[in-house]
Amino acid sequence: MLRRPLGKTGLQVSVLSYGASSLGAVFHAVNEDDGIRAVHTALDLGINFIDVSPFYGLTKAETVLGKALKGVARDRYILATKAGRYGADAFDFSARRVTKSVDESLARLGVDHVDLIQCHDIEFGDLKQVVDETIPALRRLREAGKVKFIGVTGLPLPALQYVVERTHVDTILSYCRYSLNDTGLESLLPLLRQKNVGVINASPLSMGLLTDRGAPDWHPAGPEIRAACAAAAELCRHRGTDIAKLAVQYSVACPEIATTLVGTASPEYIRNNIQWCEQPMDGDLLHDVLEILKPIANKTWPSGRPENN
Ligand code: NAD
Repeated sequence: MLRRPLGKTGLQVSVLSYGASSLGAVFHAVNEDDGIRAVHTALDLGINFIDVSPFYGLTKAETVLGKALKGVARDRYILATKAGRYGADAFDFSARRVTKSVDESLARLGVDHVDLIQCHDIEFGDLKQVVDETIPALRRLREAGKVKFIGVTGLPLPALQYVVERTHVDTILSYCRYSLNDTGLESLLPLLRQKNVGVINASPLSMGLLTDRGAPDWHPAGPEIRAACAAAAELCRHRGTDIAKLAVQYSVACPEIATTLVGTASPEYIRNNIQWCEQPMDGDLLHDVLEILKPIANKTWPSGRPENN
C-alpha cells in the first residue's frame, strides 16, 4: 500500500490505517476473535499504523488490541494511543493523570513504548491547560522513552488550530471533517503544511453515516445529514456498488493527508477497504453522490465546550 510521510516525524504511514475503536464494541457488539483477525488482516495487507484510546470500550479496545499484537514484531506497526478522555463525560488533562494513563495503556497494549500519544478530544478541556500542562507532561514521557511523538485530537477545527498556533505538536487527528459529506479540514491544511504537522484523518465513513447499515443511534449528526447520507447510500446501491467504497477512496485520495483511519472489527470489511483504496474511483458516481450531499456539505455538529467550537 502507498505510504506517505507523517509530518516531520520521519515515519512513513500507510494511506489507509486501522482505527481500533470498534474493538471496544463502540458501534455494536463484536466477536473478539473477529476483531483480532481484523487487526492481523490489516497488518498482512499493508496497513502499518494503528490508533486506539483508553476511552474506546472503556479500556476494552486497548486490551483486545494488546492480545492481537502479542507476538507481532514491534517494527511491523506504528502504534498511537491517547490520554485525557476516559468516558463519555470523563476528561482529565492534568499532567498527573495523563502520565499515569500512558503507563496503564502500555500495560494493556503489552508494549514498552507507543509511537504517538495524543491528547484525546481536547475541545472538552481547557485548551490553555492542554498547551501549558498536558503537552509538557507528554514531552517528559518522551524523554523517558515511553512515547516518541505527540499529537492532539478533536472535532472542532478551531480547537486544533488553537494548539497548533501556540505550541509544537507532531500530529493532529481530525475526524469526520474530510469525507464525502464534509471536507472542512481543507481550511486547516495550509497552517498544518506551514508548521509541517502530520495530518491524520479519521472516520472516512463519517462514523457509519456513509455505510449501508447507517449511523448508530448515538451518532451526533442531525436528521438532515442522516437523510442525505442515506439517500447517497441508496444511489450507490442502485448503481450496484457500496457507498463505503467511494467514501474510502475519496478520503485517501487527498495527498496532504498522511493517513486515513477506518474502523472495523470485521476482517472482511478491512480487506474490502484496503482493496478499494487501490482501485480507481468512479468519477461519474462521485459527481452524482456529491450532488446529493451538496445541501449538507461541510455541515458538522458542536462538540465539547462552546468556546472551543
Ligand atoms: P469510520 O468512519 O471508520 O466508520 C466505522 C463504522 O463503519 C463501523 O461501524 C464499521 O463497522 C463500519 N465499516 C468499516 N468498514 C466498512 C465497510 N467496508 N463496509 C461497511 N461498513 C464498514 O469511523 P470510526 O471507526 O469512528 O473512525 C475510525 C477510527 O478513527 C476510530 O477507530 C479511531 O481510531 C479514530 N477516531 C478517533 C477520534 C478521536 O480521536 N476523537 C474520533 C473518531 C475516530
